[in-house]
Amino acid sequence: MRSLNRRSFLRGSFAFGAGAAAVGRVPRLGAIPASRQVTPMIVTSHENATGQRAVAEAWQILASGGSALDAVERGANVIEADPEDTSVGYGGLPNQDGVVQLDASIMDGRTYSAGSVASLENIMHPSSVARLVMERTDHVMLVGPGALAFAKSFGFPEENLLTERAREIWVRWRESHSSSDDWGPPEHLAGRVSDGGDVESQHGTTNVLAVDANGDIAGITTTSGMAWKIPGRVGDSPIVGAGLYVDNAVGAAGATGRGEDVIKSCASYFVVMRMRDGRTPQEACEDAIEMIVERYRAVGLDFVPAEKFVAINKAGAYGCAWMGIEGSPRMSVRNGEGLSTYEGTAHHPPAR
Ligand code: ASP
Repeated sequence: MRSLNRRSFLRGSFAFGAGAAAVGRVPRLGAIPASRQVTPMIVTSHENATGQRAVAEAWQILASGGSALDAVERGANVIEADPEDTSVGYGGLPNQDGVVQLDASIMDGRTYSAGSVASLENIMHPSSVARLVMERTDHVMLVGPGALAFAKSFGFPEENLLTERAREIWVRWRESHSSSDDWGPPEHLAGRVSDGGDVESQHGTTNVLAVDANGDIAGITTTSGMAWKIPGRVGDSPIVGAGLYVDNAVGAAGATGRGEDVIKSCASYFVVMRMRDGRTPQEACEDAIEMIVERYRAVGLDFVPAEKFVAINKAGAYGCAWMGIEGSPRMSVRNGEGLSTYEGTAHHPPAR
């Protein structure tokens, strides 16, 4: 067999791809027509003050002609550095052993490339490490000690990410999550029945998605994952297609919430493919909720997925949906019209 070096192999792969499209084997349904002028935009699933600051800062990059990729990294870095945010980066809630383990992914639609890190400890900006995996290696994903060594080799300092606030919440959780272990003062344990529901919010993540003036699209998902997770557990956030997906011809999508469902349903990829089929970002996010609910109904479970999906398309539309019982999901948006908070839908698929 003729041996191929890496470059000629890649050339061959591209040639095959083009040929397949030419004979119509790759469906090209509903790509958003680039008929109108692209207006830059950046969104994040964080609707709080930090989310608004993140998109406002990242907007400076987009407004001066910078790339969607640089903009999403800037936005994600703002949220990762917020010590008050217990769901992302510094200040994130730890795993069951009190150790903060971070997951993040990045995808660049312009070059169709991706990078991610999982179970990364002691590094404040996992999304920037994911970007280096994407740009400086031929891999997509690095995990645990390998990801840490990689980050350190690029000069990232090791830092203690466990803030006092997060440590105290973890200690409270340790004392209240089970009535069958030895944590907590004896009088507190007596006759206790607790499911840990009184402990502060146990999950969260952020998605940052952008389109720049060239119409190029990029996205990041970054998280400390589910609080109190089993050490080494990896969620959906660093898994391309699950917690994040970008298609430069169409748009981008990201997920927050219980990663296990998002992984099984390849949900972000699903949302982007729905947009490719002509659905709006809002409709595509609702479709993902329905798809997950239907999968569980098919095996006899009446399940309420605890996920939120956000999406943008190339034409500047955006949307978000969840199946929450209380309130509607929201996201921060910065585009040529200014800074705003968008309220999506609490979508409840009809019973069948
Ligand atoms: N999706 C994240 C994970 O499963 C957590 C979250 O968004 O709440 O790790």
